[in-house]
Amino acid sequence: MVQREYRFIKRKERLAVYPGSFDPVTNGHLDIIERSLKFIDKLVVSITRHPAKKPVFTFKERMEMLRSVFAGRDDVVVDFFDGLLVDYLEKKGIYLVIRGLRAVSDFDYEFQMVLTNRKMLPQIETIFLTPREEYLYLSSSAVKEIARLNGPVEKFVPAFVANKLKEKFIEGSDRQ
Ligand code: ADP
Repeated sequence: MVQREYRFIKRKERLAVYPGSFDPVTNGHLDIIERSLKFIDKLVVSITRHPAKKPVFTFKERMEMLRSVFAGRDDVVVDFFDGLLVDYLEKKGIYLVIRGLRAVSDFDYEFQMVLTNRKMLPQIETIFLTPREEYLYLSSSAVKEIARLNGPVEKFVPAFVANKLKEKFIEGSDRQ
């Protein structure tokens, strides 16, 4: 009888990039991140500076918030990029992109992005994930609006981010 030989072959890590403004990171983003980690090994959450969107939080603040949320995790890496996503992906050698898809409103923009990026870099694939129902209508803009009106942001963002929102909108408004 031939003895079966079992070998432990080291599988290549499956990596993906989750690009976004994260101004600030919300529980909706976190939902997408955890979902993606069911089928990839490591996710690079990468902040686009997006000057056109006029972010409320500086790039450094957005970075600090994401890093604090994922402190001690080795399956999530926080990074940033300027310029085109395709250039960043090529530099990293990662060709899988994760994006979140909420209500129909996201669809047009995301569809356009995928097709434009594919024209520039055909090997990219994008996977769209949908969050749990309660996050379907959650956005960073809504969270900022709630914070501005002194509402309960703790329901929508991690504690560290809720504190930063309060510092920015409540304490900040006292100084004006
Ligand atoms: P961008 O400016 O790139 O749209 P965002 O931080 O607003 O940056 O969003 C990054 C990604 O996360 C997008 O794919 C967006 O659809 C997704 N996203 C944002 N909020 C949610 C949410 N509540 N649930 C699921 N996906 C979300």
